[in-house]
Amino acid sequence: MNIELQCCALFIIFAIFVMFMREKKLDLMNRKLFFHALCACFGCLIFDILSVVLINLSVHQGFNPFITAIICKVYIMLLTLQGYCGYVYASTSLLPTDKVWAKAVKNISHVIFIVGEILMLVLPIGYEAHDRIVYSFGPSTSVAYILSAVYILSTIVTTVAYRKQMPGRRFVAMLLWQGIWLLAAAIQFVLPQLLLVGFASAFGMVILYIQLENPSEYIDASTGLFTTNALSAYVHDKYKFGKRFSMFTAKIHFISNYVDYNIEQDAVMRTARALVALGPEPAFRIDDDTFCVLYEDKERMYERASNIKMQKDGVKDIPAKGTYLLIPDSLLMSGPDEFFRFLHTYLESEQEIVEADEELVWKLREQNRVKELINEALTEDRVEVFYQPFYNVKESCFNVAEALVRIRQKNGELVPPGVFIPVAEESGQIIPLGIRVFEKVCEFLAKGEAKSYGLDQVEVNISAAQFDYENPARFVLEYLEEYDIEPGCINLEITETAAARNKDFMLRSMNKLIENGVSFSLDDFGTGRSNIDYFVNMPIKIIKFDNTFTKGFFNNVKTKHVMTGMVDIFHKMDMEIVVEGIETEDQVGVMKDMGVEFIQGFYYSKPVPEDELLAFLKERNGIRS
Ligand code: C2E
Ligand code: MG
Ligand code: MG
Repeated sequence: MNIELQCCALFIIFAIFVMFMREKKLDLMNRKLFFHALCACFGCLIFDILSVVLINLSVHQGFNPFITAIICKVYIMLLTLQGYCGYVYASTSLLPTDKVWAKAVKNISHVIFIVGEILMLVLPIGYEAHDRIVYSFGPSTSVAYILSAVYILSTIVTTVAYRKQMPGRRFVAMLLWQGIWLLAAAIQFVLPQLLLVGFASAFGMVILYIQLENPSEYIDASTGLFTTNALSAYVHDKYKFGKRFSMFTAKIHFISNYVDYNIEQDAVMRTARALVALGPEPAFRIDDDTFCVLYEDKERMYERASNIKMQKDGVKDIPAKGTYLLIPDSLLMSGPDEFFRFLHTYLESEQEIVEADEELVWKLREQNRVKELINEALTEDRVEVFYQPFYNVKESCFNVAEALVRIRQKNGELVPPGVFIPVAEESGQIIPLGIRVFEKVCEFLAKGEAKSYGLDQVEVNISAAQFDYENPARFVLEYLEEYDIEPGCINLEITETAAARNKDFMLRSMNKLIENGVSFSLDDFGTGRSNIDYFVNMPIKIIKFDNTFTKGFFNNVKTKHVMTGMVDIFHKMDMEIVVEGIETEDQVGVMKDMGVEFIQGFYYSKPVPEDELLAFLKERNGIRS
């Protein structure tokens, strides 16, 4: 009898079935739909074999024709179901969930399927068997063929239409699966003795299983936990179908660099085991030293998280600490992108326990908005440099100005640096931004007008963080040469909003610039950020007393004593002093009496654009001969 191929296919499907059932499961929509397709394929093959046997028995040995007809009908109904399952598997993850037309498509295909199945059941069916040719025919069979063809073509069309939404591997696997099916049906139509369709569908399931539902990609080989890929699939799935979940994440920080690799691995394994032992919820290893567990609701997460004594169970005897991140409700974030951005941002937090709430998510959005603002300003050339002149007490003129960056928004409004510099320092955008500011300063100086009104030097702010990413000596020297500017015209103010990680490197870079004639000052002195290390060990010539320090001088007697003492100390160290934030004539008088070299403040001028600075210098300094 012509059932060899179907028996082989049945064996293959059975093998996939066993493997699928044995593997560690993650609750993903695609996996559920794959399972449905697998069951349909399994049922279809059994009834394919049964129908061939019964048709032969009825035709040759007079077996009850009614039973044979019913079995033939069940077979073609299952065949159509299989096609439908394939279409649902392909389209569910691709079609949008929030669009009315997509819902309509889903409902219509559902109705067509049900109507088709009823038609197959009620319409007449015939069958024939001679030699190795066995087939059914009649209106019922025709409906099955038409519907199957519709499903296969719909699957192919959907896959092609949404190819940009899926990885190349998925695209190829889906087309291969449906293509093999179509080809087998065509061959079987021309050569009816070759009953290929059942085998082709089993072969298609093999392709899907290996390429798309392959469990090894989702399991971390060393710990047996789910991988980042699995987490990504899970999170996308939940957001797509609007299901909330809660998440507990733990990151182990090995404090010393000297922790032995084996000890680290041991700690990782113990942590993994501790997580698995906690319960049926899926646990993931999302990085070498980062783990998470997902829960269906926050109560469960809080209950389990309080049981997780990560430090005690996993890493109690080695120098490590943990950062724990709790996300009680995934719907706090707008989608997978924001979810992962949140995860990566706050896992780097200094705090031990971070719990997601609306405020933290808002902060993240704000940070992201600022990042985009900086990027746009850079690409659309909306970075502007303002200048604030300093009063030189000894020479009674304004021969130095500080360059202060601003971003001009599309609506013309200015964004002050306090909003975007901290974000730029953290994101690394401080590099292109710093370079842009420096180039603009060079452009300005190269025109020569400022010099003719008595401006000798421009102070350009440079974040200590800039030394973490690159060597600023490179671009500074390059631009000085390109614009033919005396290095002595530039003084770099080190602002320490973020501490440099590598002070030795910073020192080498500073010395290189100093050798070439560029000088340095230390900004922000008197805030918590200024570091004694800088003025003791770094080649700094000028100290800038921060606004807050100056304000303190006038409001607080202790600060007044500290500042007076510091002026003395710095003068003994041969350094010059700039005081910032001077707003009144009285304050100017006090500072002059204290003996500072430069005074900066709104009393003289706010930071202003180039042309206003030039007008100011012309009026206050006059034209130099
Ligand atoms: P900073 O370098 O300490 O700059 C002095 C700040 O004090 C400026 O604020 C200036 O407008 C303000 N200021 C000056 N005189 C007075 C005064 O009399 N009263 C008051 N209330 N404020 C006064 P701005 O321009 O908003 O800059 C803020 C900070 O942003 C700067 O502090 C600096 O740390 C940073 N920044 C500015 N431009 C750049 C840049 O190009 N690169 C880097 N890395 N940081 C920059
Ligand atoms: Mg400054
Ligand atoms: Mg300052």
